[in-house]
Amino acid sequence: MFDTLIVGAGFAGSVLAERLAAGLGERVLLIDRRAHIGGNAYDEYNADGLLVHRYGPHIFHTNAKRVWDHLSRFTAWRPYEHRVRASVDGRLVPIPINLDTINALYGLSLTSFEVEAFFQSVAQPRETIRTSEDVVVSRVGEELYRKFFRGYTRKQWDLDPSELDASVTSRVPTRTNRDDRYFTDTYQAMPLHGYTRMFERMLDHPRIQVMLNADFREVRDLVPYRRLIYTGPVDEYFDFRYGTLPYRSLQFVHETHACERFQPAPVVNFPNEHPYTRVTEFKYLTGQEHPKTAVVYEYPQAEGDPYYPIPRPENAELYRKYEALANAEADVHFVGRLATYKYYNMDQVVAQALALYDRLAGAASGDRAA
Ligand code: FAD
Ligand code: UDP
Repeated sequence: MFDTLIVGAGFAGSVLAERLAAGLGERVLLIDRRAHIGGNAYDEYNADGLLVHRYGPHIFHTNAKRVWDHLSRFTAWRPYEHRVRASVDGRLVPIPINLDTINALYGLSLTSFEVEAFFQSVAQPRETIRTSEDVVVSRVGEELYRKFFRGYTRKQWDLDPSELDASVTSRVPTRTNRDDRYFTDTYQAMPLHGYTRMFERMLDHPRIQVMLNADFREVRDLVPYRRLIYTGPVDEYFDFRYGTLPYRSLQFVHETHACERFQPAPVVNFPNEHPYTRVTEFKYLTGQEHPKTAVVYEYPQAEGDPYYPIPRPENAELYRKYEALANAEADVHFVGRLATYKYYNMDQVVAQALALYDRLAGAASGDRAA
């Protein structure tokens, strides 16, 4: 008999497994239908001994001290600030768009002060910022929107930015200074020995049993448990009762090159050319020294593993129907990017898992007091 069955060994499931076992003394069975732990953050050494992220580049960043402190119990860190270049008009320029982007693109030598006036002169303010198009056009105008955002977004989502919530392109800021970091969070780092090692340490506990290659549907009636924590797709849990929730998928094409460096930046985005959106060179992220180098190309596609919930009003409405079913399930908790249909970064999933743990721990201490 297990106290808790947890479906999915990604951040949501693994953080909760450790907390329930170590914090509340529960016996936990953690299952995943994949052959490995770590969910989409899983990393591994390829045939040439280069550390790569199987499901695309994962860069850790957070402002949440609690999340940082919690993960720091299971890994040391390699300080890493992420930088991205976009291929636009035959040049590789900084994205997020900043002072250097504008100067390089237009052959100018504006100051921060002047570039602010430049943005104001090209921006097309909109009364309400509802869509991903509104966000960008109202900040930097039609031309920069077309150069950097329209093509990339259409490729990534198979939707025009005008059909996506503002939250999607709002992830990428615009800057008038020369800061070319992709993120500005307080804590930015990569797990020193990789994500998978961090997950291994998190799950190394006598009261946690991990079962891989195990689908919930096959296990649910065989294993006795009191409580269920589910981190898979919420529509699947309810047998698609209201239809499928749309997710965007990707094909990852990994390559190894017999040179030390492949490209001049950790990630190069291609808003306007090629069927892929971006190319990542892992050695920048991992700091690994090696005579060869590994890269991954991301090709967006409709079919395949669900990677991205698609933020737009009709999907939010459909999700709310599943959420109502989820809330009505006794002793079942839905957490994580797929189970709550939220375009969450890793740190947000960890925060969500810790918040659920707080509620469960509070309820447990209430039980003891009663
Ligand atoms: P997942 O990692 O998806 O884990 C869910 C697990 O549940 C999976 O392993 C799945 O196999 C398992 N599962 C599902 N259904 C079942 C079932 N029926 N039975 C058994 N097992 C099941 N975040 C960042 O912070 N920084 C980044 O740079 C970043 N880059 C990303 C790049 C890409 C290409 C993608 C797709 C995501 C990226 N993310 C990034 C987001 C990050 O991957 C997620 O926030 C995080 O991994 C979500 O964790 P999770 O536990 O909710 O879900
Ligand atoms: N985006 C874009 N051009 C870029 C980078 C991002 O149009 O060069 C848009 C695109 O819609 C993308 C979104 O901004 O899906 C969020 O970008 P982010 O880099 O955060 O995507 P993720 O790493 O989550 O795939």
